[in-house]
Amino acid sequence: MGGNISSTRVRPHTTPTRDAVSRAEILGVLGQLGQLSRSEIAKRLGLGPATVTAQVRRLMTDGYVRELPSDARIGAGRPRVPVELIADSAVVIGMSVTPTSVMVVSMHIDGSVVDSRSTPFDPATDPLGQFKTMVLEQQAALDHPERVVAIGISVSGAVDQALSTVRISATLNWRDFNLGAQLQELINRPVFVSNDLFALSTREVSFGLGRNKDDFLLLGLGYGVGLGIVNRRKVFCGAGGASTEFGHMSTDPNGPLCVCGNRGCLQVYAGLNEVLRAVPDAGGHLKLAELRQAADGGDPAVLAFLGDIGHRLGRSVGGVVNLLGIGTVIVSGQTTSLWPALNDGFRRGLDETVLKFLLPLDITVKAWTESEDAVGAAGLALHNAISLNVPLHARATALA
Ligand SMILES: [Zn+2]
Repeated sequence: MGGNISSTRVRPHTTPTRDAVSRAEILGVLGQLGQLSRSEIAKRLGLGPATVTAQVRRLMTDGYVRELPSDARIGAGRPRVPVELIADSAVVIGMSVTPTSVMVVSMHIDGSVVDSRSTPFDPATDPLGQFKTMVLEQQAALDHPERVVAIGISVSGAVDQALSTVRISATLNWRDFNLGAQLQELINRPVFVSNDLFALSTREVSFGLGRNKDDFLLLGLGYGVGLGIVNRRKVFCGAGGASTEFGHMSTDPNGPLCVCGNRGCLQVYAGLNEVLRAVPDAGGHLKLAELRQAADGGDPAVLAFLGDIGHRLGRSVGGVVNLLGIGTVIVSGQTTSLWPALNDGFRRGLDETVLKFLLPLDITVKAWTESEDAVGAAGLALHNAISLNVPLHARATALA
């Protein structure tokens, strides 16, 4: 879909400065670990003490962080002065978009979710108007609606994140949709649009399991199959936003045709719809809960079927592990509810492919929740709002 190009009032997002990224990291580490002194923050993030002091001062001026009374320890040298987040000082709204619904969450700056709701959605009919209504409804449910600092939206597909433009989304049937800039005009708040896996990876760096890891792969298993790459705490982003399309890694030249036009893509075996359609002896109408039940019940045909999918995924991830030398893998997404049946094949696939000196790998499977992607979008919006120097005092003005 097209739509009018935005007016000149909306600028593309600029590259964050190093100081601004540090501020986002400081918020992230305080959100995860609670009260910390400046020197503890510096040590934890590998930043210089002067940088931390300056950025904490800025965060205090902006009203996001406060100093606590010092721990007076007699004879223990200088007292430790902890700082902590003021969790409800700002709110970000995150939305994840599917072809039939949008999950909307409100998140405080410590990463805690204060509200979430699912709303029916039609991507073909005035999506901007629908998004505006959702933002206003979500805002109305907050105690302090004026504290909303940014909106994050995650979609599956290729997104030019600098422009918050959806280049192509097959599931939503959008092409070159300048969503971020147009919605920003309507609601008078910064809007950041991102690929769903990119958003989740950013959130993992800032708030999640990846917080203590500088390098990891985030394997996303849901209706799409994707792989987020995090190197030195930066989420890799390729040309035109295409960096996570792991699902279109071809694993068999004679395999089934994929929507992308190629054959044997991981997507045609491991995408959730494709999995549900191909379950042996099920007639193509199984629901995920039913498949899980069959797997938990030990149905041998189902276990063999899922084991093969795990194996194919494991072999492909193994190639990426070798290519990048990154041995930490976080698995996320709706399909992880089948993980007990996928796990053995996945590990076997890795064992067959990963270079021995990279072993053992560190593999973590995250429990999936319905609001996962929306929380990812909110996390990305918070990270960007702070690291891209979006005027934080914008929260003094009312939403449109
Ligand atoms: Zn494909």
